[in-house]
Amino acid sequence: MSFTLAIVGRPNVGKSTLFNRLVGKRLALVDDQPGVTRDLREGEARLGDLRFTVIDTAGLEEATDESLQGRMRKLTERAVEMADVCLFLIDARTGVTPTDEVFADILRRKNAHVLLACNKAEGRAGEGGMIEAWGLGLGDPIGISAEHGEGMSDLLAALMPVV
Ligand code: GDP
Ligand code: MG
Repeated sequence: MSFTLAIVGRPNVGKSTLFNRLVGKRLALVDDQPGVTRDLREGEARLGDLRFTVIDTAGLEEATDESLQGRMRKLTERAVEMADVCLFLIDARTGVTPTDEVFADILRRKNAHVLLACNKAEGRAGEGGMIEAWGLGLGDPIGISAEHGEGMSDLLAALMPVV
């Protein structure tokens, strides 16, 4: 069965790092047909035995006239509409920020199917952030390290029942 996972969250939490880990070199295949839009990058992901489409939301990093919140809202809403499941990423080292709260709100309002992951959780550095993440009310946070490849089996285990 095939499904689409959108990675959403504020800038710098590690969305693209996770996208690259899930997609690996297979992104080369979609390079000919550049992403869905400039702000949404699409690739074919592999995680354990699962194969799926993954969307990386970018474009929030660029400075424009429009407010960050306005762009976040539009981009997240577009990603939610394209995806079967959203992976909401926060930075476990920073903990939950006001911007994270805005994202959580958008996702709740859209009634999106959300998995919550705390990235940068290698070692014990992310423990405080994991505890804070509980308070978002978006379910059990999954501790991962996109950079070091930790927690990928937990991510797989969380995805299995919802796809
Ligand atoms: P994005 O803006 O959400 O796409 O975030 P990026 O993927 O560009 O990552 C932002 C920064 O966080 C980069 O410097 C990454 O190297 C770093 N980063 C990403 N994942 C991890 C992780 O698992 N652990 C740590 N310590 N740093 C990470
Ligand atoms: Mg990025």
